[in-house]
Amino acid sequence: MPSRSSKVLTVLALTGALAASTAVTASSAPLPLHKGSGKNEIHNVIYLLGDGMGRTHVTAGRERFYGADGKLNMERLPSYGAVATSAVEKGSKQPALVTDSASAATAWSSGVKTYNAAIGVDTYGKKLPTLMEQAKKAGFATGNVSTAEITDATPAAQMSHALLRGCQGPVYSDAACLPKKADGSYEKKPADQTLITPIAQQIARNGTADVIFGGGLSRFTPDDQKALRSQGYQVLGSFGDPALPAQTPASQKAATKSDLNKVKNGKVVGLFNRGNLTIEKAKAELPSGAPEKQEPTLAELTKKSISLLDGRSKKGFLLQVEGALIDKRSHANDAAQTLEEIKAFDDAVKAATDFAKKDGHTLVVVTADHECAGFNIIEKGTFTNAEAAAPPANDDSGNTANSSKPARSAANNVKDPARSSGIVNGDGSGDAKNFGPATFRTPDDPKGVKDGSKDASLWLTYLSGNHTGADVPIYAYGPGNAAFATSQDNTELYTKMYRSLFGSAPRGH
Ligand SMILES: [Zn+2]
Repeated sequence: MPSRSSKVLTVLALTGALAASTAVTASSAPLPLHKGSGKNEIHNVIYLLGDGMGRTHVTAGRERFYGADGKLNMERLPSYGAVATSAVEKGSKQPALVTDSASAATAWSSGVKTYNAAIGVDTYGKKLPTLMEQAKKAGFATGNVSTAEITDATPAAQMSHALLRGCQGPVYSDAACLPKKADGSYEKKPADQTLITPIAQQIARNGTADVIFGGGLSRFTPDDQKALRSQGYQVLGSFGDPALPAQTPASQKAATKSDLNKVKNGKVVGLFNRGNLTIEKAKAELPSGAPEKQEPTLAELTKKSISLLDGRSKKGFLLQVEGALIDKRSHANDAAQTLEEIKAFDDAVKAATDFAKKDGHTLVVVTADHECAGFNIIEKGTFTNAEAAAPPANDDSGNTANSSKPARSAANNVKDPARSSGIVNGDGSGDAKNFGPATFRTPDDPKGVKDGSKDASLWLTYLSGNHTGADVPIYAYGPGNAAFATSQDNTELYTKMYRSLFGSAPRGH
């Protein structure tokens, strides 16, 4: 039987001398060059993020689907750490403690803290190179996948630059693309026209990602399709018939799962909904002929992206995958939909790690951009003392299949009183002002216990309909994974992934 000290030595040897020395002298020692060499050399980086996925989202997903003793796929990865997510105020370095997705995505795409709503520009509005652009330029294959509109902040910040995240397209407007000054007038247009060019137009023309899968078809035009085809992209579905009024359901045709299945290689763009993709829970509840049923899952999109990117370049590939609807349905305070999206995201994590295990040269990083809505698990039979004057809206106007049912009425302020039975700020279960927890059965509950029952063991509640400033979890697998098992700032994710791909530090970092 090995002695205790020899066991420790074995662990240190396995972890690697570099990682061990970093853990001991993190402040003085330079970061290891994660690219590694030989058996540990990194060829590919797959970066997956659950938008709005805080620590409690992960815990609730685990308990809901695998029970208290179970684990999500992401929790099975060897490294676990935390990521700080604060942004800065526009035009300064003054911290803004609660980030949005645009600022957070710019932090890991470009390694720089910026203002909320900024896409690939610094706090002063200066364009920043992104990791995906740098990877592309260096000859890596690249992919960008999201369940949101592909022009939305998270995917956009790897492959476009905009002063405002709302500048998604299809057409330019001052309101969407130009920031306002304190007096309410618009700032003057920047010298660099790219920064006010609709994100859809940029994506269709800059060739930053070889594989682009998501929603947001209505952001694109027939001209964008032409531009993509001229660069050699296969375009699934149709961006519109120039003879018909543009951006209408009659004119455009969303890509489908069977279109996806037919793709075998090459550069591809597939937009599977005119708005965000459809939530798994909503998809399951739609009638069999509904077009939303033709949308692939995030795991299917991830698998297909990997198969298209693997071997495309001798250098390797960089793939970003976003489970976006965790955030969007947390904004809506719909716990049932949120849980299903956590599961769908976690299934995509499995698709990535299954590949990485076989490949041996793939680093998989799983994290979030920020927490959303102060999601929490409260003791069975107890209540939150949060009482919003008006609950957040729970509709999705761009894809009404995602709207929660029943629609929540802000006017009546009715919040599931049936699931509350104690004093909050109102008068107990009879008072509609109580913010009733949402209750869910878990695999540990006795048979017959149903969702929505007081007997279900998982009691969930929300603090607000907006983001919070909480740190988010991070998990990693593959060569170099130990570098993420620490408390780190979101800008460090850029530095670490850059080193993983290129072997040296980015300039200025
Ligand atoms: Zn959000």
